Amino acid sequence: LLNIDWNYPLSKESGREGQIDPTSMFVAYSYPRVSVYDDYNGWDRLPHTDRQEFYNDFNDYVFSIKAPKNYVVYATGDLLNPDEVLQPEFAARLKKSYTSDEVIHIATEQEMKGGKVTLQNDWSTWKFSVNNIVDVCFALSSTYLWDAGSVIVDNKTNRRVSTQAAYDVKGTDFVNSVKNNNYALAWFSNNWPGVPYPFSKMTAFQGFADMEYPGMVNDSQVGDASFAQLVQDHEIAHTYFPFYMGINETRYAFMDEGWATTLEYLIGIAEKGKEAADKFYKQFRVNSYIKDKSAEEDQPIISMSSQLSGAGYGNNSYGKASLSYLALKDMLGDAVFKKALHTYMDNWNGKHPIPWDYFNSMNTGAGQNLNWFFNNWFFSNNYIDLAVSKVSATAGKNVVSIKNEGGFAIPFDVVITYADGTKQTLHQTPAVWKSNQKLATVSFAGTKKIASVVLDGGIFMDATPVDNTW
Ligand SMILES: [Zn+2]
Repeated sequence: LLNIDWNYPLSKESGREGQIDPTSMFVAYSYPRVSVYDDYNGWDRLPHTDRQEFYNDFNDYVFSIKAPKNYVVYATGDLLNPDEVLQPEFAARLKKSYTSDEVIHIATEQEMKGGKVTLQNDWSTWKFSVNNIVDVCFALSSTYLWDAGSVIVDNKTNRRVSTQAAYDVKGTDFVNSVKNNNYALAWFSNNWPGVPYPFSKMTAFQGFADMEYPGMVNDSQVGDASFAQLVQDHEIAHTYFPFYMGINETRYAFMDEGWATTLEYLIGIAEKGKEAADKFYKQFRVNSYIKDKSAEEDQPIISMSSQLSGAGYGNNSYGKASLSYLALKDMLGDAVFKKALHTYMDNWNGKHPIPWDYFNSMNTGAGQNLNWFFNNWFFSNNYIDLAVSKVSATAGKNVVSIKNEGGFAIPFDVVITYADGTKQTLHQTPAVWKSNQKLATVSFAGTKKIASVVLDGGIFMDATPVDNTW
């Protein structure tokens, strides 16, 4: 048993944590922790340098936050003693939210200002508990509005998750936070990754971080409801990667940011349609990477995140890794990809998988050896660049030869326009690169005269699109 006395001065300049305004604070990373001891690396001693995330072990937590009256405390985990900290009407509203599909305004601006919400002792002790989770954090405010609801995340057991939001009266992005939270938890649970949200609560707190924490997100007010929903979706998606899985994101950020980026894209299709989701993904996740000729971002994805900097860190962690997951989904098809992903998640949740555990589990779950694909995406300096090298038409047999100059095994469409104005699209999955990663041929029958051929990678944006057309 270790007993540790410590204090933790809270930052006034708030980034990931600290003071948001004179009456609102977000407190993360605030207590001493024991490093992770791994069977592959021993004690994990990588220091936190602000760029990469933390790497923590799984714990059961019971903790108390002592706060002055009129401060509502929000935290990871279940509030154990609402009747000891809230006035009866407000404790009743909170409890009602645990079974309500509707968004309940637990405390309004007037109620907070009027001292009506918390019990009026000088100090109150808010008690929380949560099991099998990698960290806890908390936030408090005497002025923020407080919304809450809940949503069923597991249709087999009807298990509900509490969804809450705490925000400034001017925080327009947060007005729909609980509604969006409910949508995201149900969607992630039932679609991708298709694993019921593994904790009992998810609270969004207005701050400046745009950052995920177990059971909490700290997002900024940007004045753009659509973008705010996307950012909240992204941070909630992190519940699975890294938190549920226990990813070492200090070393392998692509094992969590790549998935959060992928899940953000997939839920974006459901929310806004494929065209809008594609457009955003290309602009926000691919464009600056593929248009930048510097070699920094072409380092292999497998590179340790702690040894990358600048664009090399960002693109390896987010865009390139996400593209690899989406390329694999395209190649395997949704059913096999989901079976493989669930094999990985079932095998490794709570156990700190490393990249090779991902590769091996996906091979097992997919029932095929995908090592050529993982080598192509994770252990190379590849990028995205196709070119049409030749189009031939002889006796009703047409052949398009395609050079893979960038090297990544991407999916793409061959779009053929005939002289009579008709069009044909032949989708190619990354499997087209399995036997020859430099050159592929696409054959199709037909005697109509071909006017043009275009290679369209969609979100797999090409570094030199000009040579994608014949
Ligand atoms: Zn993220």
